[in-house]
Order: sequence, then C-alpha cells, then structure tokens
Amino acid sequence: MFLVSACLAGYNCRYDGGNCYNKDICDMVNNGLGIPVCPEVIGGLSIPRNPVEIIQKNGDIKIKDKDGKNYTEQILKGAQDCLNFAKLNNIKVAILKSKSPSCGFGQVYNGKFNGSLIKGNGITSELLSKNDIKIYNEYNYKDLL
Ligand code: SF4
Repeated sequence: MFLVSACLAGYNCRYDGGNCYNKDICDMVNNGLGIPVCPEVIGGLSIPRNPVEIIQKNGDIKIKDKDGKNYTEQILKGAQDCLNFAKLNNIKVAILKSKSPSCGFGQVYNGKFNGSLIKGNGITSELLSKNDIKIYNEYNYKDLL
C-alpha cells in the first residue's frame, strides 16, 4: 500500500481548487493500493487558498504565502498527521506531487514566488523520508509497477 498525493489521484485539493490527475495513480486508489492524502488540507488549509512556499532565513524555516501570511503550523501539522497515518498502517512508500512545498522531493520553489526551483524537499516529503518512507513522484512512480 502507498500514500499518494490526493491531487495526483484527481481530488480537487490544490491551492487553486484544481487537481493534477494521473490515471495510474487514480487507478491505484480505486484498486485500494493507494491512500490519498493532502497534507495541506489535513493541516487545516482551505480550498482554494493562496499558494505557499518554503522560506529559509538564517537557518529558520517558515511556510508563507506571497503576502507574508504564516502557515508553518498548519503545514507541519499536516506532515506529522501523514507520518502518523503511514506508521499506523505500516506504509513504506509514498508517491507525492513534485515541486510542492509539502509534497515535493528533490526540488521545490525557491521561496521568492518567481517560479524558480531550488534543491530541497517539501515539509511532508522530508519528514516521511527521514522516517524511512521511500518517496516517488509522478515522473518516476512507474518503477513501482
Ligand atoms: Fe497536492 Fe500535496 Fe499540494 Fe495537497 S499538498 S494539493 S496533495 S501537492
């Protein structure tokens, strides 16, 4: 069983109220192989919402929208709830949406809201990975099939 980003399974949980539908990942959910989670919604953010990015300053990490509103607490809560769920269900693999400040792995937006990417992980992906959950995304999940 895998955790999957709910937006990849077609749930309209993105900041703009849309999704990132992927047929294979949707099929995994319909077949009971994939469990959809949206850490940002689980953490308490609304749909729609302002997009957030990870802002690093002097070693401190905050997650804010472009107006400077701070959503760090909600994003951390969503990540922790996803980890707790994965542990309870002995889930060792997650397929998570690339580039997202919660779900991205390897690359995320740079915190300046200019569309540029930097090396790094989303808050949920980082926490899951540190707890021995292998992270895939919508580009490399086929290695699992
Ligand atoms: Fe998709 Fe993850 Fe963003 Fe939710 S937090 S919309 S699951 S990328």
